[in-house]
Amino acid sequence: MQPACPPKGGVIEAERTALQGTPTMDPRTRIEAALAEHDPPWRLQWLDATELRARSRGRITNAHGLNHRTLKPERGGLLCCRIFGPVEELSCVCTKYQGPNHRGITCEKCGVEVLEVSVRCERFGHIELPVGVPHPWDDTRSFEALLVLPAGFREQSPGDLRVDLRGLNGLYQRVYQRAEALARCIEHLAPSLIVEHETTLLHQAIARLFGRPRQRPGTGPTLTAHLQRALLELDASRPPPSTLVATLAALGLTLEAAGSPAEP
Ligand SMILES: [Zn+2]
Repeated sequence: MQPACPPKGGVIEAERTALQGTPTMDPRTRIEAALAEHDPPWRLQWLDATELRARSRGRITNAHGLNHRTLKPERGGLLCCRIFGPVEELSCVCTKYQGPNHRGITCEKCGVEVLEVSVRCERFGHIELPVGVPHPWDDTRSFEALLVLPAGFREQSPGDLRVDLRGLNGLYQRVYQRAEALARCIEHLAPSLIVEHETTLLHQAIARLFGRPRQRPGTGPTLTAHLQRALLELDASRPPPSTLVATLAALGLTLEAAGSPAEP
């Protein structure tokens, strides 16, 4: 299947038109209404921590995107090639393996699998959270880990590394830094007031990344804004678009056929 990569623009006008009249509608309500009309119908389910980690190709262990000296993605960072896939078509990062004959090989030197650049639109990473954090849309759910949207959706196009840290990458970077700071406080048995303060900062960073459920379109590069854009591609007669599926997963949600057995 050809993965759908992010459009390079031109959706703004369509977005404005599609969202006219419903600019403040809760995205979960919107998507559930749209899914109910789908044939066959789909429903939203929360991902639990095990399912969520199972979807990740690796844990983020570095707050940075690119190495300033080499201009290559940092190992373990938000654009890491070991996690998200190569930035050169059918080539590992150190270029030891290149070309279709090496497809599927994982380089023993740089650890990158030789694949098409388009896998950067399919592979998730994740950020481990040191404490359970309530879901900004639903306090009864809490996260232990957060899926990181495939790098291809955070780049100009997959493998194009001219990303800026003011957008989603910056929001992920802040979440990672807050999670690490809190983990250090807990590890070093910091006073409870400091732990509480760091916990609040982590909640705020995640809330900022997700965006407000009633966020107006075009008011920031949050996951909610990304979801609103992805909803425009939803067509009742076709399978849900990969952008929508990926954004929902980053929000801790998955789509299931409504006819499948309910959770016990
Ligand atoms: Zn290599």
